[in-house]
Amino acid sequence: MRYIDEMTKEVDKIVNKKECIILGIESSCDETGIAIVKNGREILSNVVSSQIDIHTKFGGVVPEVASRNHIACINNIFNQALKEANISKEEIDAIAVTYGAGLIGALFVGVNFAKSLAYTLKKPLIAVNHIQGHIASNYIAFPELKPPFMCLLVSGAHTSIFKVDDYTKFTQVGQSVDDAVGEAFDKVARVVGLGYPGGPKVEKLALSGKENICFKRQNSLKHSYNFTFSGIKTAVINYVQNAQSRKEEINKADICASFQHYVAKELCDKALRACEEYNQKTLVIAGGVSANRYIFNYLKNEGEKLGIKVFAPPVSLCTDNGAMIASCGYYNLMSKVGLSDIDLTAKASINYN
Ligand code: AMP
Ligand code: MG
Repeated sequence: MRYIDEMTKEVDKIVNKKECIILGIESSCDETGIAIVKNGREILSNVVSSQIDIHTKFGGVVPEVASRNHIACINNIFNQALKEANISKEEIDAIAVTYGAGLIGALFVGVNFAKSLAYTLKKPLIAVNHIQGHIASNYIAFPELKPPFMCLLVSGAHTSIFKVDDYTKFTQVGQSVDDAVGEAFDKVARVVGLGYPGGPKVEKLALSGKENICFKRQNSLKHSYNFTFSGIKTAVINYVQNAQSRKEEINKADICASFQHYVAKELCDKALRACEEYNQKTLVIAGGVSANRYIFNYLKNEGEKLGIKVFAPPVSLCTDNGAMIASCGYYNLMSKVGLSDIDLTAKASINYN
């Protein structure tokens, strides 16, 4: 029998089981993550190998270097995940893997590893959209959380507002028309000399700064749910260059605090307005930038005033990891979505419109 026919039957059996163990594989950027998750919500193991130290010396992620490092460590990460969960590979019910979006070479490492495992172990292979994986990180963090809700997705490549209708259905209601918010954080960090990865460094330095620099707000997208971050990025660059040409000293902490405040307000205004328009009382934040506690607290406080509850996962689940992919894979499997044949391929980009 063909692999896919056999697996279609297998999925029918798995959805009726009381306990479902999913292996989640993530390799879309510079983190190799493999996790084992029970029933979509309970982490049995979640091993992440980050390449931050390797890419720091280049000032950003070098795609080819990322792929090579995924190859070098993925098997060890897999064995460690099994060991920490204290289960054998035969006890896994299905294998979920990020197939996109991300760096194509990096994605291929995870996808091919997942395909080999799925084929040799005769387990269903579930394709997971990386963005949907980030949303699912909140299911692990908040056992009571159920769709529908609004989601603000903020990462190094995306800034979007989604209406999450169900575990496997979501609609994009707004997105950045230029830079992603994480990209803006990384650029600002570079301009003030903080290095890579910028987000956490900007957040840390902003703690000792004042929000006293008024970066002019862009009004062109005021009434839509779309974002623009190229303007604030340029405003910070110009601010620093002007000060340097006048031989004035810049206060890096104030720049970080003022930039971060600008971003928080921009994200907050649109995300909360979208909650109101779509009549949702829950806003979930996801993606690498959701690790920023200033942005989270800003949204939480503003949300409270409108009766909107704001959730963000703990920092360890905000950045890329295998657990969120396993959780999403579980819900895909239960809805019989994403079951893939052995010719599954990676996709660098996925369009949500
Ligand atoms: P992701 O694309 O989901 O892997 O997230 C990576 C992006 O999140 C990078 O642009 C980081 O600079 C950004 N990021 C990570 N932590 C923080 C933080 N604490 N504050 C702001 N941005 C962050
Ligand atoms: Mg990510």
